[in-house]
Amino acid sequence: MKLDEINNKATTIDLKVKILSIDKREINTSRGESVYYYGMIGDETSVMAYTAWEFPTAIKVGDVVEIKYARVKEYNGRLRLYMDSRTEIILKPGENLDVKNTYREVKLQDISTKTPFVSVSGMVSGIKTREYSKEGREFLIYSGFIEDNTSKVRISSFGKPLENGKMYSIKGARVAEFNKQMELSMGDKTDIEEISQNVDFERNFKIFEIKNPAGSINIEVFVITIGLKSGIIKRCEICNKLLSTDTGICKDHPNAGTILDIFTYFTVDDGTGIMQAIAGKKAILPIIGIGDDEIAKYANDIYNKISERLYGHAFKMNVDFIMNEEELSLRVNNISELNETDFKNDMIEEV
Ligand SMILES: [Zn+2]
Repeated sequence: MKLDEINNKATTIDLKVKILSIDKREINTSRGESVYYYGMIGDETSVMAYTAWEFPTAIKVGDVVEIKYARVKEYNGRLRLYMDSRTEIILKPGENLDVKNTYREVKLQDISTKTPFVSVSGMVSGIKTREYSKEGREFLIYSGFIEDNTSKVRISSFGKPLENGKMYSIKGARVAEFNKQMELSMGDKTDIEEISQNVDFERNFKIFEIKNPAGSINIEVFVITIGLKSGIIKRCEICNKLLSTDTGICKDHPNAGTILDIFTYFTVDDGTGIMQAIAGKKAILPIIGIGDDEIAKYANDIYNKISERLYGHAFKMNVDFIMNEEELSLRVNNISELNETDFKNDMIEEV
């Protein structure tokens, strides 16, 4: 029988399945210490959790086994297979079995490399395509962003088209970490389906609510410190790398020109948490009212301008929460005005 044929009235169980995971737990009972095993099994039709009071040590994850004389019971609303001393678990050496893919549906803010494949849904934007050839096959890579009401993350699709502005349900996307943020990729085994769904993309959150890297989140904060070394930096015109302040020359492009950028670092507080933030000129110039071509003109005064405008004031910021050695910090995309009186009142009410 197949896993999807099992119901909680099934009396004689005879299955051929693949062992997908084996975990062991020790418990103390009135009769002393005892051990049980639990995990997942799967076949072409479904996957199921199991608990085993006895489990042959020779059997490993990935093995195909025949299971006879087990019981099925509902546990937490789901069917679970129970194996005891009566159960026969027979190894089928050399056999393989395709297992139905089932992926947990998650919000984009909850993706983590601990769960390498997930199902998500969201709207796609900023898609660019480029050609790619692999094993003599030519195909297109679509890369851009996907967003839901909790986060916006990079996504790339190898061969399967993604169109800007469309909503998709994506099953079996791979999770990776890149540039201190989470990203998703889609390949041959990813299922994608266009869906219609209304999503509110105003991602307004409090700092304490965010536990994972998440992109394009709105927060309302006070700037409570400004880093003393915030100011103008120089980058190579060709590779955009930061140039050292002594030489001001790019090792790879010694003859290239330089571009002026601004680097600021500061601490923000929203009443629920405090966080370190960094911001470049894209976020800073509009709020201090200086144009890109005026950076040089204000060179001696830039720190004061930033400090006067930001320090002790409240702003709405669009930020990416990034992971820096186990700790979250902020990369600021945009800073806008906030009515400070309203914000102070909100903060007081919540505290
Ligand atoms: Zn360079």
